[in-house]
Amino acid sequence: MLDRRRVLAGVSTVALASLVSSKLWAATAIKPDDASALLVIDVQNCFLPGGSLAVKEGEQVVPVINKIAKSFANIVMTQDWHTPGHVSFASVHSGKKPFETIDLPYGKQVLWPDHCVQGTDGAALSKDLSIPQAELIIRKGFHKDVDSYSAFLEADGKTSTGLAAYLKSRKIKRVFVAGLATDFCVAWTALDARKAGFEVYVVEDACRGIDTQGSLAKAWADMAKAGVKRIQSADIAATA
Ligand SMILES: [Zn+2]
Repeated sequence: MLDRRRVLAGVSTVALASLVSSKLWAATAIKPDDASALLVIDVQNCFLPGGSLAVKEGEQVVPVINKIAKSFANIVMTQDWHTPGHVSFASVHSGKKPFETIDLPYGKQVLWPDHCVQGTDGAALSKDLSIPQAELIIRKGFHKDVDSYSAFLEADGKTSTGLAAYLKSRKIKRVFVAGLATDFCVAWTALDARKAGFEVYVVEDACRGIDTQGSLAKAWADMAKAGVKRIQSADIAATA
């Protein structure tokens, strides 16, 4: 009799624990709604293995993004889209090498290898992305003398890409940011989204960083300070 009671007590404790944990999970999983949009940043060949500005493990974001994209009714993608001889290319500044910085009229600019030149294969979106439902592709960095990491504002801090107005006219209130690279185009997009008044989540495992001169740690610190929420893909509920 004693033994039987012990077994029963054990079963009910296990059952209770699993009930509590499933309720907790349901309460914490984030369910993207019609006022939510996923922003897929610069998943382009130049930033993937074999590309001219390849981000380490950049290809690993693709299956994660494909998976979370299924939970979103609204998706916007971006493409870095530079003129040949763009001001952000080290090759146009004599004596300068990639990853050095220079001062431009709008502030400090990191110099990069030539990348994402308009119309080239390197500027194309990864063929492994599977997001046919994406509604808008924003191209950025197409003014020869101004870079644009952010999907919202060019690096001069004032020239708009039009994305904030588009999202607001679509009644979007929350944006989830994924893609490449965490410490540049993803972070600048997330920070500008906060400035534009959106609730902002960065999906960490759906991003990879370049990390030059401490840029990755600084980006996460800046985003935390601005109220950007750092989440993992598993935090997003599997269906919309
Ligand atoms: Zn660029």
